[in-house]
Amino acid sequence: MTTVTNLGFPRMGAKRELKQALEAFWRGEVSPQQLQDTARHLRERHWRLQREAGAEVVPCNDFSLYDHVLDTAFLFDAIPDRYRVLADADALAGYFALARGTQRDGFDLQALEMTKWFDTNYHYLVPELTQGQVFRLRGDKPVAEFLEAKALGLQARPVLLGPVSFLLLSKTVDGSDRLALLDRLLPVYVELLGKLKQAGAEWVQIDEPCLVLDQDGDDHDAYRKAYAAFAAAGRPRLLLTTYFGATGDNLALVNTLPVDGLHIDLVRAPGQLDAVLDALPPERVLSLGLVDGRNIWRTDLDRAMALARRVQDRIGNRRMQLAPSCSLLHVPVDAALETALPSDLRSWLAFARQKLEELRLLSHALKGLMPAYTELDRAREVIEARRASGKVHRAEVAARVAAIDGSAVRRHSGYPARQRAQQARLKLPLFPTTTIGSFPQTRDVREARARHKSGKLPVEGYDAFIAAETERCVRFQEALGIDVLVHGEFERNDMVEYFGEQLDGFAFTRHGWVQSYGSRCVKPPIIYGDVQRPAPMTVRWSQYAQSLTERPMKGMLTGPVTVLQWSFVRDDQPRSVTCRQIALALRDEVLDLEAAGIGVIQIDEPALREGLPLRRQDWRAYLDWAVECFRITSAGVADDTQIHTHMCYSEFNDIIDAVVAMDADVISIETSRSRMELLDAFVKFHYPNQIGPGVYDIHSPRVPDVGEMVALLRKARAVLKPEQLWVNPDCGLKTRGWPETHAALQAMVEAARILRYEATVTA
Ligand code: GLN
Ligand code: ZN
Repeated sequence: MTTVTNLGFPRMGAKRELKQALEAFWRGEVSPQQLQDTARHLRERHWRLQREAGAEVVPCNDFSLYDHVLDTAFLFDAIPDRYRVLADADALAGYFALARGTQRDGFDLQALEMTKWFDTNYHYLVPELTQGQVFRLRGDKPVAEFLEAKALGLQARPVLLGPVSFLLLSKTVDGSDRLALLDRLLPVYVELLGKLKQAGAEWVQIDEPCLVLDQDGDDHDAYRKAYAAFAAAGRPRLLLTTYFGATGDNLALVNTLPVDGLHIDLVRAPGQLDAVLDALPPERVLSLGLVDGRNIWRTDLDRAMALARRVQDRIGNRRMQLAPSCSLLHVPVDAALETALPSDLRSWLAFARQKLEELRLLSHALKGLMPAYTELDRAREVIEARRASGKVHRAEVAARVAAIDGSAVRRHSGYPARQRAQQARLKLPLFPTTTIGSFPQTRDVREARARHKSGKLPVEGYDAFIAAETERCVRFQEALGIDVLVHGEFERNDMVEYFGEQLDGFAFTRHGWVQSYGSRCVKPPIIYGDVQRPAPMTVRWSQYAQSLTERPMKGMLTGPVTVLQWSFVRDDQPRSVTCRQIALALRDEVLDLEAAGIGVIQIDEPALREGLPLRRQDWRAYLDWAVECFRITSAGVADDTQIHTHMCYSEFNDIIDAVVAMDADVISIETSRSRMELLDAFVKFHYPNQIGPGVYDIHSPRVPDVGEMVALLRKARAVLKPEQLWVNPDCGLKTRGWPETHAALQAMVEAARILRYEATVTA
């Protein structure tokens, strides 16, 4: 019989109960036992919820107190030596030290490096391995959670991160080959699978998401070896699970692996179905990822049904399972809680619970159960209503997007002419100093905003507060002698939400939280309709700030790609189209800022790189439209208006040609932690425009001294022309306090002066 299954469920709880418990635990307010109790209650609640929503197979070991990759490393005892004493003495303390560092009880340990989980906004901790790595089972989390479900009368399917993906997502700290560790790792997997079998597990979901990436011959050898080692008896049946894309050129390999089932993502990659079916080994179960685990829209059930019918015709019900495309970790729990949204919009949404209900409906319909058809009709009406809604489609917006032509994406003159015009207007010294935008968002600022939002602080009072903070910030920068000022961004809660709230086509949920890392959750805006800007969004505060000073005031905007990337996006048109709409709205904002006398405008694109598709063959197309959107936003200004952009990372080797093509007059990037090494790409490719390589790390309260910053700047000057260089921190200062900000910026301005002096004596 066609079975409805799930691959993973959000861990936090609909009201972020896990977040609260974790943070209370870290503050020392709840005991380890209380934390574990909360975790257990959440697991139980979520299993029941999934069963009630229609999942016949529920996952276990998908839960984590922080991160499932860290859990895997911990389980296999892949713990770097420096954490070992603590982890042996107190497992939970050791686990959290790996996750977030610790400075307690005489320990001073930094957290493991964190990075993005494929192309999601979830971050995992990167396991650190060494050549001599010894793996062994530490604890029995997957078995314990399986037994916990069993005690509740549920036959759960444990989820394990597969051995090859685990190694590929890890790093070695001694330059040795990760995959060479496979021989040492496999016996531990075999032992674990044996234990799960003994505990009564019939199936195990073994995730190998790296199978949707470009994999080379060595990777393929590793999969072959790993799954051959699992072929021996004494283990549960294995569902090899792929998601986030097509198996593509890895499919032939996948077909040779001795597993019992295969899960494929038919939302991201419906096109792979025929190839998968044509070569599906006899008896292999096929799990169809039919509802979108990455987005919040109701499924077009007719389309899903058509795919499922094709499979049914070929392999019959017995070998077929219905599932979300990937773990539901990436969506919120329950759309029914969003009672504040307009009811039509709410009816278009499906969060984790609704997605499982959709799968149940599909399964009923496939079995030919009559009541399912009336429900299907209703679902179809909702999809139709969304398709036809006047809230979604605005003819003017479509017309404007269609009319974008070459002239909209080209500045009037090339960079050299612009540079001259800007210098004539701005008259900046060599090595001009600036900051990335935000200044400390202190408790006062957050409290004032919260009071304003809840209606306790009327708008006049709030505005007066923001004006006072802004003025203080301007005077602060003037006193330090910074050259290009910012207003401080005190009026902004979040760099995407602030714009989304002022644009048509965006909606905001109350409980739509998604885990970003550890206890940190984000509530992405929902872009449901054509995007338009009813009125200027930032002009007022920028203009006010400019009125306070003779120095140039930089206008601050979040770029179109970043707004897109950090939102739940429409699934009824290509991302590129939505991005162009946002770009046009921001273009109008740029022109309004310019008309209001703002001569320097920064368009932040910290998410540009993370939007890169998983497969290299798709990069070009993405970068082309991403760059085009940045240019739509920025290219309308006069030559003497200076466009800046900012990106908070520095791995540019892969995308440097796209960064050049953005043609910002100035780009600021993070480079201090890599000691300027990451400037390489800009040097190698003869980056033609100006660049501000961050001279100090804003992620740490540590105040750098003048000498350090001078040393970094000299390194940059050695490889770039002095006229190209700006002096700025790595990123915005909103998480810092005022005293350290003062000390660090004072030192930064001094460092710039020293570089200027050196330029005059060597000239
Ligand atoms: N202008 C933003 C700030 O300073 C940029 C933030 C970011 O790069 N993520 O806060
Ligand atoms: Zn940044």
